Amino acid sequence: TTTIMSKRPTMNDVWPDKWGVYILDNENTATRFIDKKIKELDSMDSEEPFQVLNLDTLIQMHLKWLSYLPRVKPFYAVKCNSTETVLRTLNALGTGFDCASKGEISQVLSLGVKPENIIYAHTTKPQSHIKYACAQGVNLMTFDNEEELRKVSRCHPKAKLVLRIAVDDSSSFYRLSSKFGAGLSTTSRLLECAAELGLEVVGVSFHIGSKCSQSLAFRQAIADARSVFDTAKLLGFQFSLLDIGGGFSGKDFPVTLQEFSEVINGALDEYFPFESGVQIIAEPGRYYADSTFTLAANVIAKRVIMEDMRKEGEKESPEKLMMYYLSDGVFGSLNSVLKFTDKNEVTPYLHRAVDNDEKRCRSVIWGPTCHNIDKIVDNYLITELHVGDWLLIDNIGAYGISISTEFNGFKRSSIYSVCHK
Ligand code: PLP
Repeated sequence: TTTIMSKRPTMNDVWPDKWGVYILDNENTATRFIDKKIKELDSMDSEEPFQVLNLDTLIQMHLKWLSYLPRVKPFYAVKCNSTETVLRTLNALGTGFDCASKGEISQVLSLGVKPENIIYAHTTKPQSHIKYACAQGVNLMTFDNEEELRKVSRCHPKAKLVLRIAVDDSSSFYRLSSKFGAGLSTTSRLLECAAELGLEVVGVSFHIGSKCSQSLAFRQAIADARSVFDTAKLLGFQFSLLDIGGGFSGKDFPVTLQEFSEVINGALDEYFPFESGVQIIAEPGRYYADSTFTLAANVIAKRVIMEDMRKEGEKESPEKLMMYYLSDGVFGSLNSVLKFTDKNEVTPYLHRAVDNDEKRCRSVIWGPTCHNIDKIVDNYLITELHVGDWLLIDNIGAYGISISTEFNGFKRSSIYSVCHK
């Protein structure tokens, strides 16, 4: 092993194991790892951004899930962050996987995930991807329309189908039910169509929308799912699966897992009691990925803008507006901070120590590309930065690297995985 390891990138006393994970001890915390990495990059005159994937956090998130939602088996939503180490770790921890395409199915199968631990959770699938799922023995898949049923009957007649319903997602930031999910009034017709085609439908799924800010939304959605179970029974179906989707907050904001679990467990006890024998699964993405990644990006440029902020009649001097440009931005790891609202989605902080008395200036922090939407935070108060400084941004694991591009020729950030012994 010594020869193999010596070929890998090393950092003085911290070595990656055979999976590329840097194993930390009590003296080498994730923070110290970042310090060393920055020192190493500085010594090479490199401004390349990097992310640290903290597997300790990922494991803690899973343990928390098990303790708060013991009846709900998580099928991690691969789309949220498909970094191999995340997938391998979750597989070892026993989660299932929600895949959205042939590419994601193939990725998780190549890591040794069993086909029965995969749900192909996309209601509008290319036929070739359905055929691939069939060939690989991935049977569980969602649908919400008749055309999809006809495709499945042609490409995977033995599939175990899950009817996705549209739910009230008005309390979520990303409202997925505007794109997917059958209206409740259409479910009987869809089930009749499935029966005519000889297809097996095994249950119901929904997605409350991503970044849900109201745990109570789950209660109504679970009640709606119950009504579809009842309709299905009248039509002769024996449903056995309820999939409550994703939508869980990543870092206890805006809603803690405890708050979600109180509503969900209560609704499950009422509508799907343990004795019903219905298997409950979920498709969390953001919950697992968000807080497990921290980004380090370099201040590559700086402009000082003098803005005349005086109101008429006032005599103060014009206010300084600082503009900083980082080596990573919204076309890279920070896609999730694309500014749809005035709110800043992330809180960058300086890696170097800062004196309490250092003055903080009103600043805008931009990404490296030429596009004006490549803005990370606006109207942000931070100590004056210098070219060469490093900023850290926590909680950037969800829908960042998986959506990142190399727009303008800026390379994607590297990812280093760390874990304590
Ligand atoms: N399942 C499906 C079908 C989705 O479309 C998504 C996100 O778009 C997820 C699960 C994961 O959602 P979240 O990251 O909010 O948990």
